[in-house]
Formats: sequence, C-alpha cells, structure tokens
Amino acid sequence: MSAKLAIVVPCYNEEEVFPTTVARLLALLDGLQARGAVTPDSFLLFVDDGSRDRTWALIEEHTARDRRVHGLKLSRNCGHQNALLAGLALADADALVSIDADLQDDPEVITAMVAKFHEGCEVVYGVRNSRASDSAFKRVTARGYYRTMQLFGVEIVYDHADFRLLSKRVVAHLQEYAEVNMFLRAVIPLLGFRSDIVYYERAPRFAGISKYPLRKMLAFAMTGVTSFSVAPLRFITLLGFLTFMFSFVMVFWVLYGKLMHGNVIPGWASSVIPIYFLGGAQLLSIGVLGEYVAKIYLESKRRPRYIVEKQV
Ligand code: UDP
Ligand code: MG
Repeated sequence: MSAKLAIVVPCYNEEEVFPTTVARLLALLDGLQARGAVTPDSFLLFVDDGSRDRTWALIEEHTARDRRVHGLKLSRNCGHQNALLAGLALADADALVSIDADLQDDPEVITAMVAKFHEGCEVVYGVRNSRASDSAFKRVTARGYYRTMQLFGVEIVYDHADFRLLSKRVVAHLQEYAEVNMFLRAVIPLLGFRSDIVYYERAPRFAGISKYPLRKMLAFAMTGVTSFSVAPLRFITLLGFLTFMFSFVMVFWVLYGKLMHGNVIPGWASSVIPIYFLGGAQLLSIGVLGEYVAKIYLESKRRPRYIVEKQV
C-alpha cells in the first residue's frame, strides 16, 4: 500500500535551520519511498510565514533543485496556526503531516505515523515523551496549561503540539471550521475519526531562536481557552449568584443588629446594606450578560454540527 504524502512545514525566519531541515525531510521521503510506503510524487511544502530573512529565497532555490520541494509564501506574518492551515488547504495528498521547521519533533516519527495511516488511522498525534529539553519554566507553565484546559472541559491531547498526520478528508472537514482564531490542537479532536498516538522525544532547537516569545505564548494560551470554553463566563455567573445570595444574609444580619439591638453606629446599616446588595446584584447581572455573550459567541462560530465519516 502506498499513499501520497505531503509534509507541511511553516517557516518564520528559519534561514539557519532550513537547509538541514530540507535535507533531513528529503532523506526521510527517500526512505519511505524505497519501502513503498509513500508514492514518488509525495512532497514537502514549506510555507513562508512572512519571513524577513532569506527563508523564501532558500525555499525557491530548493524548489528548483528538487521537484519534491514546494513553496508557499504568505504576504505577511500570519502566525504559525494560519501558516499551517494555508499549507494544509493547498497541499493535495492522501496524508498530510505538519511539522515545525526546527526539527524539535523527530522527523523519523513520521515513518510510524504513516504506518498508522496505512492501518486505517486518519488522525495521528505526535506526543512528546518527556520535556527534558524544555526549560523548567516552560515545563511548569505547559503542565498547568494543559490541566486548566482539561478543567475547562476542552478536550486536548496532553503534550501534543502541532506535529501530526491528517488524512485528506480530515483536512477537508477541518476547512469547515471557519473560526478566525484557529487553535488546531483543540479543533482536531472535535473532528472525530479513528485516531492514534505516536510518542517521541522532543529535541532542543538545533539552530536559530524560538519564534514563540513569552508574549506570543500567552496570547496563544488565551486563544486556546477563550476559543473553546465559556467556563470563565460561567464562573462570573456562579460568583454573582453566590454573592447575591450572601448579600441577603448580610442584609438581614445588619437589619437585625440595628432593629433588635440598636447598638450600631449611625449610618452603618444604610451604607453597608447597599454595598452587599448592589455588589451581588451587579456581579449577577454581569454573569447573565456573559451568558448571552457566550451564546452569541458560540453561534457566531458557525461550526459544523456533525461530520459524516462513512456512508453505506
Ligand atoms: N512559526 C511561524 N509563524 C510564526 C511563528 C512561528 O510559521 O509567527 C513557525 C516556526 O518557523 C516553526 C514553528 O512555527 O517552524 C514553531 O515555532 P518555534 O519552533 O519557534 O516554537 P517553539 O518550538 O519554541 O514553541
Ligand atoms: Mg520549536
């Protein structure tokens, strides 16, 4: 069995790693092809995400050298996820693998992914075995992040980033998700289909610097939560409801103190009661508003309601 494979690689200012990456991936294709796992017209698609260095020039140079090297240039820096989506939308193949340009994800694992594909899996997640190569800070924040997402009810594969294989039709269904802020690692599990996981060790970046500084990482994390969960809004409603209930208790307590004992500072009851009462009422109102905002937000996504896997 042989399938046409496309490897999609988003690149943003990756001139330092590019030559090595092309060579490694082409060698990988050679191997897969020799074993008959992929067809000879399998290819690499490098998506230049508005790089400001020589990345695009290098891509062009390599497309002339090897016909299996394809290039796609975005007009500006659109972000990793969008670069990836552009590549997936354009690449015509039976199976599509996405991998970072810095080869932190072991390309050899693609062999195992293709094998799973031949067994009938349409989604194969690459999951890192350990985070030994990441800084302690990244390890702790990543762990907290995946936990929070799970807590908020977002289905997400633990320690899986954007190294994965998708079948042609899964990619076609992915196009139906029209949201502007696409968070692929949480959308893919929503698609369903037979899936599996392959494990690998994540290596440190062999050259160049990370294109995800803390600022971008935080924005990315926020997108992940706010694009998939209305839990933070729900939380306000709950808090508002509890405060509002509590305000009644306080109102009675204050009135009790004033009327029964009369031993309170003048003006105390009339200042304290509105604070509790209005505080609770306001929080509850914000929560209710939030519920409507959540509805509008969920509706405006226009996500597909279902996905047909097979028809008999
Ligand atoms: N990338 C991109 N556009 C961006 C930022 C990153 O296409 O705006 C690409 C980058 O070239 C790399 C991949 O996304 O191929 C992952 O980035 P990086 O390795 O810098 O992230 P890290 O591994 O540090 O999280
Ligand atoms: Mg990286």
